Amino acid sequence: MDDDRTTRASVIIVGAGISGIAAAKVLAENGVDDVLILEASDRIGGRIRKEQFGGVTVELGAGWIAGVGGKQSNPVWELARESNLKTCFSDYSYARYNIYDRSGKIIPSGIAADSYKKAVDSAIQKLSQEQASTAHDVSLLADLPSAPKTPVELAIDFILHDFEMAEVEPISTYVEFGEREFLVADERGYEHLLYKMAESFLHISEGYILDSRLKLNKVVRELQHSRNGVLVTTEDGCLYEANYVILSVSIGVLQSNLISIRPPLPRWKTEAINKCDIITYTKVFLKFPYKFWPCGPEKEFFIYAHDRRGYYTFWQHMENAFPGSNILVVTLTNEESKRIEAQPDGETMKEAMEVLRNMFGPDIPDAINIIVPRWWNNRFQRGSYSNYPIHVNHQHFNDIKAPVGRVFFTGEHTSEKFNGYVHGAYLSGIDTSKALLDEMRKDKGRKTENTQAFLLEPLLALTGSLTLAQPDALSNLHKFDLPRQMFLPEPIL
Ligand SMILES: Cc1cc2nc3c(=O)[nH]c(=O)nc-3n(C[C@H](O)[C@H](O)[C@H](O)COP(=O)(O)OP(=O)(O)OC[C@H]3O[C@@H](n4cnc5c(N)ncnc54)[C@H](O)[C@@H]3O)c2cc1C
Repeated sequence: MDDDRTTRASVIIVGAGISGIAAAKVLAENGVDDVLILEASDRIGGRIRKEQFGGVTVELGAGWIAGVGGKQSNPVWELARESNLKTCFSDYSYARYNIYDRSGKIIPSGIAADSYKKAVDSAIQKLSQEQASTAHDVSLLADLPSAPKTPVELAIDFILHDFEMAEVEPISTYVEFGEREFLVADERGYEHLLYKMAESFLHISEGYILDSRLKLNKVVRELQHSRNGVLVTTEDGCLYEANYVILSVSIGVLQSNLISIRPPLPRWKTEAINKCDIITYTKVFLKFPYKFWPCGPEKEFFIYAHDRRGYYTFWQHMENAFPGSNILVVTLTNEESKRIEAQPDGETMKEAMEVLRNMFGPDIPDAINIIVPRWWNNRFQRGSYSNYPIHVNHQHFNDIKAPVGRVFFTGEHTSEKFNGYVHGAYLSGIDTSKALLDEMRKDKGRKTENTQAFLLEPLLALTGSLTLAQPDALSNLHKFDLPRQMFLPEPIL
């Protein structure tokens, strides 16, 4: 049998996104360096993902460091500064003055400003209604805000609700770290921050991680846990055992049936997981032979007003980030994202070209290349990021991040303040590992106290006849669910 089939470690981390890598780094810094990171895809980064497109490096997943310029420094901004990551300030404030109608006319700024104010008022009203309905306060439920009707109202409503630039409730990220956002425009990609983190505890050579503690293409399909340890099975039939596991997979994956957990998670946990919504957010990149759109600092973002909400609404040119790249990006969300994921990319290019010709006239050139990321149909993601309903409370977050026995949870969705963001994922990885280290210390204390009693356990006599190198014994135990973790060594601390 392949040696790889029965690997063991103190801690297994499922997923090598930023939360998983940050969690592993904290463990390594605290002496737990026999960690095993199992990643389903062939790369680290998860939802931080670069791609070469049209001669530059574009970010298919997270693109911005959001929350910069406040009193407190965003930790991801700090990592970017330490690495001299090239970024570019995004000024969204002019976007509302660059709204095109279907005949290519720019909506006069007065009308745009009025529609914007109306949409903000209506969003605030809707928010207080949602709060009132959660608090069962009927007196506040009388006036329902009017639904957006015109293409301009629909476009602004889309930007307010589906796009992160102008949400109405106070967002912890902006309150704590500042309101500025910077687009990563670095050939090394946003993922460079993960490689910098990884190089402090994994062996990296010439940009490649060459360390057997990181295993790529390992799709975790089953997780067995007991009072004494965990046993993880991957799609290729390998078995990994450890004292603890940290699950850093997305909320979409937790809601899917990709990983079967035995015994199943308790009801309070599954309820917390299922209560969370997932946003699908798709950036479609289009490469052109030359640019035909207005450039300049106030023109970076522009909006298309169509009578179908969210139909190729939000556009950005990449000239500020990558001058001369001749690339446009259009953002679609949720149902529109799922719709274009299901059709051939050529169809999406045709639709986008029709929209662009409505805005800029019939003579513009055809796009020469397109990328349509598929976050929804990616079984290792199942969406782009978590979106908690407004009425979700503190207890819910406690439940979503609370460990179940030896199974710990991390990832952007476990961050009460910063869910949905890279810094939320990063900080959650650190927090989860700190909680696990506490647990390991307590466990070690308990074990020391019980050593005498433990030595008398009759089951211990079996250890001599059962070793991890015995595949048959292993598979039998797996099948009959015996407490094989009884025999696992102590965690290293
Ligand atoms: C299109 C898009 C745009 C975004 N824009 C921004 C932005 O501008 N700014 C911002 O701050 N945030 C943004 N985000 C959100 C940000 O990318 C995420 O919050 C963050 O990267 C999540 O990190 P994570 O470690 O929690 O999860 P992930 O990065 O998803 O890591 C989880 C890992 O688990 C792996 N995995 C899944 N299932 C298994 C399995 N069964 N076995 C083994 N491994 C498994 C996955 O392959 C993945 O690598 C965006 C996200 C998307 C998708």
